[in-house]
Amino acid sequence: MSLDASPTSAAGQDGETHRKAGGGNALRAAVLGANDGLVSNLSLVMGVAGAEVSARNVLLTGLAGLVAGACSMAMGEWLSVNSSREMTQRQIDGEAKALEADPNREKRELVAIYVAKGLDEADASALADKLFQSKDAALDTLAREELGVDPEELGGSAWAAAISSFCLFATGAIFPVAPFIFASGGPAVTASLVLSGIALAVIGAVTARFTGRTVLFSAGRQLLIGYLAAAITYGVGRLIGVTVS
Ligand SMILES: [Zn+2]
Repeated sequence: MSLDASPTSAAGQDGETHRKAGGGNALRAAVLGANDGLVSNLSLVMGVAGAEVSARNVLLTGLAGLVAGACSMAMGEWLSVNSSREMTQRQIDGEAKALEADPNREKRELVAIYVAKGLDEADASALADKLFQSKDAALDTLAREELGVDPEELGGSAWAAAISSFCLFATGAIFPVAPFIFASGGPAVTASLVLSGIALAVIGAVTARFTGRTVLFSAGRQLLIGYLAAAITYGVGRLIGVTVS
């Protein structure tokens, strides 16, 4: 299943392949969450640094940005998991009602789906008959085939998703702001850019594992996008800083 022939996947091919199949989505979500925090806070920090405010103010702004962003991400994730669960549940309930009201019609719908998938009429009917012997099996199959949802997977815990989003965003967001705890002015800005650059490159390199691009390309692309966002807000901050003062 592994299409990339990058040197990183050369070692332990077997274990690697299994991990990719199992934890791919979690890794992807983790990397994207950290990237959100990193890019948005790097931009924020560079924006205020561009306006040449004191290191203390940059630090306060960066920390506020970290907390605000992490909370917003956590709430968004919580809402997303809950609302998608409720939406799926509502669709399944609707299908259950339809099954109760007119089971034959639902059976004909299922037969039509199987025929569209390439089964001949007789096989499709036999299969549908068998599945419709049990109400649970019928509803489960209708949910999967008609709605395209897996009733077993109505989303994990909304709270777990919220907490993990909060932590991931905060982890990414700490890099650009941390240097302002110890330094100020040009050295702090430089340290912030270097530290964030390393984090961007690492995130890019990790994305290479599931995009199939090379590590170098992915790291470079991530670095370019992150710095571009920072350069834009730095420019805006500088412009407004000059105008205001
Ligand atoms: Zn139906």
